[in-house]
Amino acid sequence: MASLPHMVDLYKYIVDVPDFPEPGIVFKDITPLLASPEAFLQAVDEMADPFTDSNVDIVVGIESRGFLLAGSIAERIGSGVGLVRKPGKLPRKTVSITYDLEYGTDSLEIHEDAFPGGASVLIVDDVLATGGTLAASSKLIEMAGGEVVGATMLMELTFLNGRSRFHGPLHAILSY
Ligand code: AMP
Repeated sequence: MASLPHMVDLYKYIVDVPDFPEPGIVFKDITPLLASPEAFLQAVDEMADPFTDSNVDIVVGIESRGFLLAGSIAERIGSGVGLVRKPGKLPRKTVSITYDLEYGTDSLEIHEDAFPGGASVLIVDDVLATGGTLAASSKLIEMAGGEVVGATMLMELTFLNGRSRFHGPLHAILSY
């Protein structure tokens, strides 16, 4: 992790966008954080930190902002990368699951052979809101033979209590 004098305030790199994508939702825009080398590196260091000694085989990113974080976190903890994707994106045979999110419902898919022989999996996403996406992804990974050992999020919207829907170590470096 970056030494203390160089730490930045990551909250300053998250922009609230009211009423996006629909009225009543405050969208947390992380693109300023992604665009800053200091903030991005600090964020992935902090997200990876509790899991560096966890023997994680695969870091699974949730489409699509989760992908951006998952690759860098995997590099830090010495694991591979896996993809949970929206329907119709993966080219080979998949398992899929339908779930509720903060605005609407959606489905997610993973390659059915994503974890040959089983694998210890760390789930990565940008925002934990209602927890529906994380719960669905966790179930999907288990359906495909992976063992979920934890989840690491850039931020948690604590007032939605999504954390209660995930059974395992859940790390979020920012909370609202
Ligand atoms: P949920 O299933 O309700 O926990 O929603 C989590 C997923 O939806 C994540 O993949 C987020 O990228 C996205 N999401 C939910 N709420 C927000 C929000 N307020 N701002 C940005 N992204 C969000």
